[in-house]
Amino acid sequence: MGTRVYLLDGGTLMLDMSFVTWNHGQGAEYRFPVFSVLVDTGDKKVLIDTGFEKEWVERVLPFELPEQSEDQTIVAQLAKIGIRPEEIDIVVNSHLHFDHCSGNKYFPGAQFVMSKEELRHAYVPDPWERLGYDRNLVDMPGAKVELLELGDYDYEVVPGVTLIETPGHSCGHLSAIVRPTGEPPMVFPIDVAYNGHNLYDKVLMGLHSDPRELLASMVKIENIAHKIGGNIFFSHDPESYKTYKKAPDFYGE
Ligand SMILES: [Zn+2]
Repeated sequence: MGTRVYLLDGGTLMLDMSFVTWNHGQGAEYRFPVFSVLVDTGDKKVLIDTGFEKEWVERVLPFELPEQSEDQTIVAQLAKIGIRPEEIDIVVNSHLHFDHCSGNKYFPGAQFVMSKEELRHAYVPDPWERLGYDRNLVDMPGAKVELLELGDYDYEVVPGVTLIETPGHSCGHLSAIVRPTGEPPMVFPIDVAYNGHNLYDKVLMGLHSDPRELLASMVKIENIAHKIGGNIFFSHDPESYKTYKKAPDFYGE
């Protein structure tokens, strides 16, 4: 077996379209998927992001109208491919918005990898960033956490999983490049671009920490994907998501 990549379906959330297309679309609804990525190299199991929890969203951000079946929890999705939470070696948090880290608590024995800058903002957000963060979700006493300060360097988590720093959506945002065996590289901008309209038309999302940094990160991701012949998988795009293979199906061999 080579490196396999599974997309783990985590349900959907709703936002006003103006969160997705900055200053446009007020009053229109955007229901979007949330998913995590499991990379199984045969040697290591790396989980990128851990999704949201329906109960938390209903309590804290009820206007996001979460939909998540029993089958769409992170633990249930892993069970679908025969993996127990304690088998996960490494958890990468692309950033610490609630829909990317709420399942961290299920992996107390894993090595966590995240951005140092992002962790600071999760604890002490700038005023306009408060909506996405909850320090209770990232407070993990005793957890093994590696805090990255990448700048222009990239970071190889394990062979076949590379992180690059792409700030702008959030201050310490990371994107991932994953290489399934026998297939083109998979580029996960994560929240650098929720969808293709954001990325290709350079339409920034309404949610950002710094619009200029976000624009630069969009260009960076596009250039990298082009250079390595990678396929881009968007984080919150209901249309392209329909075309992706979801667990238990996988990319790779
Ligand atoms: Zn986000």
